[in-house]
Amino acid sequence: MLRKLDYGEADRIFTFLTRSHGKLGAIAKGVRRQESKLGPSLELYGHVDLLLAKGRGELDVVAQVARVPGYRIEGDVELMAHAALIAELAERVCEDRHPIDGVYELVVSSLDELSRETDPRRASAWFLMSALDLLGYAPQLASCASCERPLTARAAPFSAEAGGFLCERCALPSMEPVPLAAIKVLRLMASGDRETYRRLKLDSALMNSIDGVLQAQLEYHMDRRLKSLAFLNSMR
Ligand SMILES: [Zn+2]
Repeated sequence: MLRKLDYGEADRIFTFLTRSHGKLGAIAKGVRRQESKLGPSLELYGHVDLLLAKGRGELDVVAQVARVPGYRIEGDVELMAHAALIAELAERVCEDRHPIDGVYELVVSSLDELSRETDPRRASAWFLMSALDLLGYAPQLASCASCERPLTARAAPFSAEAGGFLCERCALPSMEPVPLAAIKVLRLMASGDRETYRRLKLDSALMNSIDGVLQAQLEYHMDRRLKSLAFLNSMR
């Protein structure tokens, strides 16, 4: 579930991301009443098995819901903030009732990883890299994004406008270089080697550099700013 909104006296409207129908809105009637059978299973960002009935308007009606055993995201403010980013991005890229290949799977696996990761920023960064790749916005990491010469093993500035890192000839002196260690981690992420990524030691300075690149790339391609990203950054 991506989002919830209180409606009327005891109802709630939910936005769900589904495997086969993409994003859709559904109303759960009476769900805010204590005796509601639906209520306990409908946690924000939860993974649920849904049975929907046709409603009168645009919205479906939640007829039955069961929590899918597995991850649980709740309580922790930082965890919720990272989950909000995953949900906001999914909601932004999906149109109503129109599935996009890979988005559902990416969201479920990212929330699952987030719930198990001791440092939520790691899971969040992996999600951003995968999402960029899925949307066709993967940053260029091996050669200069301007002149295409292979990058040498050194720090290099990142340009979201160019779509990647710049070699020493193309970089402007005013550009802040990204440390080589961060570029190496980004390359590992782009290769999809999650097992090795999980074992990397990433201190917060390195995480900041990695996040900086991924966020710059993402924001460049989004027409509006992501609210959850601004919130996450304000927490730090
Ligand atoms: Zn160049």
